[in-house]
Amino acid sequence: MKKTIAVIKGDGIGPEIVKEAIRVLDRIAEEFGHTFVYHEALAGGAAIDACGECLPQRTVDICMASDSVLLGAVGGPKWDDLPGSQRPEKALLEIRSKMGLYANLRPAILFQQLADASPLKPALVQKGIDFIVVRELTGGIYFGEHQTWQKGDECAASDLMLYTKREIERIARVAFDTAMKRKKHVTSVDKANVLDTSRLWRKTVEEIAKEYPEVALDHMYVDNAAMQLCKNPAQFDVILTENMFGDILSDEASMITGTIGTIGSSSLGEGTCGMYEPIHGSAPDIAGQNKANPIGTILSAAMMLKYSFGMEKESACVEAAVNTVLDGGYRTLDMMSEGKMLVSCSEMGTKIAAAIHKTKE
Ligand code: NAD
Repeated sequence: MKKTIAVIKGDGIGPEIVKEAIRVLDRIAEEFGHTFVYHEALAGGAAIDACGECLPQRTVDICMASDSVLLGAVGGPKWDDLPGSQRPEKALLEIRSKMGLYANLRPAILFQQLADASPLKPALVQKGIDFIVVRELTGGIYFGEHQTWQKGDECAASDLMLYTKREIERIARVAFDTAMKRKKHVTSVDKANVLDTSRLWRKTVEEIAKEYPEVALDHMYVDNAAMQLCKNPAQFDVILTENMFGDILSDEASMITGTIGTIGSSSLGEGTCGMYEPIHGSAPDIAGQNKANPIGTILSAAMMLKYSFGMEKESACVEAAVNTVLDGGYRTLDMMSEGKMLVSCSEMGTKIAAAIHKTKE
């Protein structure tokens, strides 16, 4: 198969981690006889520096014309003082919106090799952590009207949280479809005791649930969900939630699995073209030092193979290679523990690429 991939390296550690994901994709292409053609595009701080805007039209055109998009991360202190509408992170919201990517899937899987790195008690970790957060990505408070105003001595600001029934229906279907391929359990997270948007959310999710009689549905308030994630994460299979709650809970979910550096994500819309990126940011504190963990980006590329290209075996092969390297005791600094071997970002990518072998059928 031949596939075109738009590559947005972004800022900070973005270029380092994307390079390793491409190394792994190239190895997959070689092993399975595919051709991946990469089209580089600028977004975020790098685009502001080069063209004066965080998301040039050329980048949008390249992404729209590609079979999928691989992204590192954007942002950094250099651009922190820009007004909100001009900041690098705005590029992400815009590109997701322009490409109609309304569903963000973030797996939270604890690699047993990294169990020591989890801040949870061993008894909880032993029960296993393997769930997926399905987050609505193009609605809610991040996309509502933002205002700041001054009245006399008082300054005020407001952000509007808005959801339509249609937006809730389509993301609910993604969650139930995902659950059908897993343990058939959806936990819908809202704040229906306070928010009207959450009451509409709950009612709509219950309606969609009727289309999936095999899937068990329960509801949880977001504050309780935050507690349950550290008290009993093994109870979750698919967590369905809105944009801002999902942003916060998925970061918590990544931390209980040990390190933010190992988790990938996919953002999907109506077609097969998606955007794949690690869940962490641009980590300016370690940028340019070859210390970053590339596994989150490599596993994002594995999700791209599965969800956008239908390459299930190739995707499984990447996941197996990551496991092999972790089994071998190799760790980047963020997941280092006693008795393990410290490797750089490029060494980790090289080892994972070298561990890719097609299994004989
Ligand atoms: P961050 O995720 O960049 O970093 C948080 C901490 O985790 C840092 O100590 C960092 O060194 C570490 N870390 C993150 N990724 C790592 C990796 N792959 N390997 C090893 N360690 C890693 O979050 P932050 O510091 O809050 O944000 C930094 C910048 O990134 C900000 O400008 C922020 O807006 C931006 N950001 C971008 C995205 C994105 O592009 N999707 C997401 C979140 C934050």
